[in-house]
Amino acid sequence: MSRVVILYGPPGSGKGTQAELLVRKYDFIHFDSGRYIESLVHSKEAAKDPILMRERKNFDTGILCTPEWVLKVTRDEAIRVAKSGFNLVFSGAPRTLFEAFGDHKTKGLFDSLEKHFGKENVSIILFTAGENVSIFRNSNRKVCSVCGLPLLESARASHCGLCGGSMRTRTLDKPEIIKDRLVQYRTRTFPIIKELKKRGYQIKTIKAEKLPFEIFKSVERNLKLG
Ligand SMILES: [Zn+2]
Repeated sequence: MSRVVILYGPPGSGKGTQAELLVRKYDFIHFDSGRYIESLVHSKEAAKDPILMRERKNFDTGILCTPEWVLKVTRDEAIRVAKSGFNLVFSGAPRTLFEAFGDHKTKGLFDSLEKHFGKENVSIILFTAGENVSIFRNSNRKVCSVCGLPLLESARASHCGLCGGSMRTRTLDKPEIIKDRLVQYRTRTFPIIKELKKRGYQIKTIKAEKLPFEIFKSVERNLKLG
């Protein structure tokens, strides 16, 4: 039976890295909803589809995509993966209460996950990191200038371990922007966690201030993997 793991945590807590580690070591597919939506609205089919065209316009102009549509496409994709027999890992999604639980007329993502994977196969992990750690990691994030491979903020390499390209610091993560993202994270995620507890989910909390491989050991232990 395949399973679903949902990782939540503030920006810089390394949830994306942990998701990638699950992909590399176990049969997981990392579902990055932001990237998935971008690929949908920029696909060839989008030019012939009025709904995709509408969402493309929203996406490209920075307006939020229609929540009902986001919920529908992420739910469809999750079901497709469930049927293929792979495990699924989400990092930071579902992002809103509506995406997570729907409303009186629409079923939410958790309803579909419970139906197709079984509630006992849905695990939720919450990473915690102090605000200073979040800000430090986000403002010292080094990536390869050629292939985009990230480098740990504590590593000193000047060249990429994959392609040999030079490393650069990502400048888009300015402290004031990160602070804003932290506020957004709290106001959006905490109500979802609260609702999940009400539904009977056990939320596993992992401190995410060590190196990724050490955090991954806790993740494996929590998920009874390995
Ligand atoms: Zn590279």
